[in-house]
Amino acid sequence: MIEYKPIRKTAFMFYKNCPKQFWYFYNDEIAYKGYKEASRDQALVYGTAFHLAADEFFKHVVLEPCDKPLDDGVNPFRKYLPINTPIDKWYDWFADYEYKRYEKLWKDGNAEYYKPIATELFVQMPDVIDRSGHIDRIDVIPGTQNLQIVEYKTGRSYNMDKEQVVTKMNAEIGFYVQILNSIKQFPTYKITEWKVINPTLEKSWVNTISPITLRSVDQAYNALIQEVFNKGPFERNVTLLCRYCPYVSDCLYSNDYEKIVVD
Ligand code: SF4
Repeated sequence: MIEYKPIRKTAFMFYKNCPKQFWYFYNDEIAYKGYKEASRDQALVYGTAFHLAADEFFKHVVLEPCDKPLDDGVNPFRKYLPINTPIDKWYDWFADYEYKRYEKLWKDGNAEYYKPIATELFVQMPDVIDRSGHIDRIDVIPGTQNLQIVEYKTGRSYNMDKEQVVTKMNAEIGFYVQILNSIKQFPTYKITEWKVINPTLEKSWVNTISPITLRSVDQAYNALIQEVFNKGPFERNVTLLCRYCPYVSDCLYSNDYEKIVVD
């Protein structure tokens, strides 16, 4: 019997763009990481730096009472984030955003809910092809047994004021929720909300997770798996977007024709 590797949500995007791109990604994800690193894509580097810093922030932040004015007006959370970087503005905003969140919780008598229940959580769900993913952060909604999935998104394209972007985010979060529910990662909690924090746009958005969304994500996943199983060659979809594809050298500019022979 063939053993299939876990599939990540990124694979869905790739399959829609180009079946051949999906094939490369699914068969050699390490190469994908290598290509991305080698490309030194500025947006990716900044986004990765922000994710790492936000994760470290929650490991080190020390919570103190909020019943006195800030010394010299200095936000005490700022020291837990990097300085003298090209994205200091993002860190300034994030420190203010998180301090205001903490201050409100503290004033409401809910300070114990400030720290996340999980950060940088890798999850994997057994399936025909296992599903896997990384979740940036999960918070407990104060005074409840409900959870909020928090995603950090950097860049101007992640603007949740746009309906099509919210639709994509619902699909992404739905993918994670299905995994978490299936593996009973937090058995005494219910996942009810997602939040996106975007330091580039200096905004955050909260959305309710609906059962309809979860059902449609599940249907989309099952349909994709069926399509992949029944697919013959994974054809190339050559478009102008190929210039941004991490596999462009292997696919279009290589003399190694073996590599572009469809499977
Ligand atoms: S270079 Fe273009 S055709 Fe080839 S895998 Fe990438 S997106 Fe598909």
